[in-house]
Amino acid sequence: MTRIRSTTIPGGERLPVLGQGTWRMGEDASRRAAEIAVIRLGIELGMTLIDTAEMYADGGAERVVGAAIADRRDEVFVVTKFYPQNATRERMAAACDRSLRRLGTDRIDLYLMHWRGDVPIKETLAGFDDLLRAQKIRYAGVSNFDVDDMEELARLKDGLARVVADQVLYNLERRGAEWDLLPWMRRRHRPIIAYSPIEEGLLTHPHPVLRAVAERHDATPAQVALAWVMREDGVIAIPKAARAPHVRENRGAADIRLTKRDLAELDGSFPPPDDKHPLATR
Ligand code: NAP
Repeated sequence: MTRIRSTTIPGGERLPVLGQGTWRMGEDASRRAAEIAVIRLGIELGMTLIDTAEMYADGGAERVVGAAIADRRDEVFVVTKFYPQNATRERMAAACDRSLRRLGTDRIDLYLMHWRGDVPIKETLAGFDDLLRAQKIRYAGVSNFDVDDMEELARLKDGLARVVADQVLYNLERRGAEWDLLPWMRRRHRPIIAYSPIEEGLLTHPHPVLRAVAERHDATPAQVALAWVMREDGVIAIPKAARAPHVRENRGAADIRLTKRDLAELDGSFPPPDDKHPLATR
């Protein structure tokens, strides 16, 4: 097994292009031990970027992450998100403190605004500044921002300087971000973090082309779907897996390099966008 490739965020820090999602974890106490174990397995396999949110299970997912990383905090890069209604300076400070407590840590590596709400971005940037200065967060970012949102952000003083990544829906079936957002971010040397990279498991269903490509690599359709998301620099995939075999399988995807032929066949079945559409979200 090779080392997972990495990509760079502004400032030069390198992040693995394959991490772990946690949506729908922390909802059921009877699954807690298993969820902690799979996150730890993923970390051991090199998927050290862990994505969570205050929204998931009402803080329950952050608690699961906290338990999973308690004795290995320095090995992981923790991403969490706050609700748009908490995007004011004051409410961000309180939301961040709650997330820190649940995560059992003194710092969040990357703090994202989950999606845009009514709070002016300028105010949220001031909130990020406070948290960066207090060293409660190491980096700030956004989620579900389309190009027009990013441009609005970039017009504000130091707006883009604050934001190191945008987390968006991106997978073989949801390629809209390729039209303009992905190139926009790439030109500014900021990765996108692709959520639902296997379309919540849908891309694991039998699909003739996906299966044919998978067979050539002695891989599974899910692995091909993930390898496709990570095929070029500047994209980080964060599949969520609550079962150990899925975690191992997903890790294997980082070792697959798709060929031109694979990519052409996949384009035939999952066509790239031919026009601008509003960014799809979950
Ligand atoms: P996903 O990662 O595309 O799919 C997760 C589903 O796929 C789960 O049902 C999982 O099953 C299954 N799965 C995982 N690996 C598999 C494999 N190798 N073979 C077969 N099935 C597999 O979808 P997602 O959870 O929506 O997205 C990933 C993460 O992105 C989330 O967990 C969350 O952290 C983040 N996210 C962010 C936003 C946002 O607005 N920013 C929105 C959605 C998601 P098991 O769990 O049973 O293993």
